[in-house]
Amino acid sequence: MTTTRFAPSPTGRLHVGNIRTALHNWMLAEKAGGTFVLRIDDTDAARSREEYVEAIREDLAWLGLAPAREERQSHRLEAYQAAFDRLRDAGRIYPAYETSQELELKRKIQLGRGLPPIYDRAALKLGDDERAAKEAEGIAPHWRFRLDHDEAIAWDDGVRGKQSFDAAQLSDPVIRRADGSWLYMLPSTVDDIDMGVTQVLRGEDHVSNTAVQIQMFTALGAAPPAFAHEALLVGKEGKLSKRLGSLGCDAFRERGIEPEALVALLARLGTSLPVEPIADRAKLLETFDLSTFGRAPAKFDDAELERINTAIVHAMEFAQAQDRLPDGMDEAGWHAMRPNVATVAEAEQWWKLVTGPIAQPNFAAEDRTFLGHAAETLEWGEDPWRALTSTLKQVTGRKGKALFLPLRQALTGMDHGPDMGELLPLIGEDEARSRLKRAAAA
Ligand code: GLU
Repeated sequence: MTTTRFAPSPTGRLHVGNIRTALHNWMLAEKAGGTFVLRIDDTDAARSREEYVEAIREDLAWLGLAPAREERQSHRLEAYQAAFDRLRDAGRIYPAYETSQELELKRKIQLGRGLPPIYDRAALKLGDDERAAKEAEGIAPHWRFRLDHDEAIAWDDGVRGKQSFDAAQLSDPVIRRADGSWLYMLPSTVDDIDMGVTQVLRGEDHVSNTAVQIQMFTALGAAPPAFAHEALLVGKEGKLSKRLGSLGCDAFRERGIEPEALVALLARLGTSLPVEPIADRAKLLETFDLSTFGRAPAKFDDAELERINTAIVHAMEFAQAQDRLPDGMDEAGWHAMRPNVATVAEAEQWWKLVTGPIAQPNFAAEDRTFLGHAAETLEWGEDPWRALTSTLKQVTGRKGKALFLPLRQALTGMDHGPDMGELLPLIGEDEARSRLKRAAAA
């Protein structure tokens, strides 16, 4: 049974990068008929905020990525403590006393000598008496996980293929601060075990964390899940810009971007599949496959999102748009306006052509006569626009622009807009006649 998780830290709103990770985890689970879990990584009490937890839930709901359940790291501290005790008893966790300045100095010296800045395990080499002396000085230790340098680290990454790491080339990670608070590494592993996570899909910035965590899984007696690391998302200009980091669901929603547009784009961006305006998730799921994911950074282009959004809005059913349409706008109204809008919200301004009032231009005398004629000719049947224009064409000899434009201007006040054949029935017979008369009289 496949279980995936999306594990945001509630220290800010979701941005387009983590929306993508959430989507892919949802898709992995959905495609396999498995479970998608939302895990709130809120061990950092100082930076985590409840309002962001709320916002994350709302964003996922808006995107249609409903988790089967929600977990919270701050509710699981006992489980982390138990794992910590086990690993410490097994000699896999050790106390360290260096200050951050000391560590920084060590790093600088190593780098100055052209060496990789790997933690030198000085704390591991302390004798009992030296440790006791530190404690007597009142220095509380932070804690490191001791990597097993003899244990090979390898996995078959769902995106990157075969990966291997030499544990000796990695620093023993700090897993707990001196004040007892947790860093990301161990709680995440404990959760993945306890929550039965079978697939971890996350950004490639986590690749070296995976190397460390694989040893944690083993040390805790659990088989590691399958791992996959997707290439990062970058802006069109090739960098992970600040702007990209600030693009959240709220900003997209305000701009009239549909969740389905975001989903269609992010489902395939950075894969070998074409990005298309596919609003049907089942279709996206059918083709979703980690083996199509590329290694190069995925480029997020706002203009591409807008194109997809427009195409999705143009094909959107009335029922889906209904809640956001102006009062009185029915299915025929939506169908008439739909091809003219880039967002659902724009339908409102076009709907004013129906409800009025409209501002007509000043017509030349000849056009006024023509429009007066039109007011008399107007007959209400199956297709009043067609009937009106074909009669006027015969009677006046006008055609093309000379025939259509004054009518459109008189009826809508505009030179362009929705199809008149669809619009005229919405305006209605009396209103249409009075607009034509008014134009003729002006
Ligand atoms: N909270 C971590 C992050 O946001 C989760 C990483 C993971 O998926 O394991 O980076």
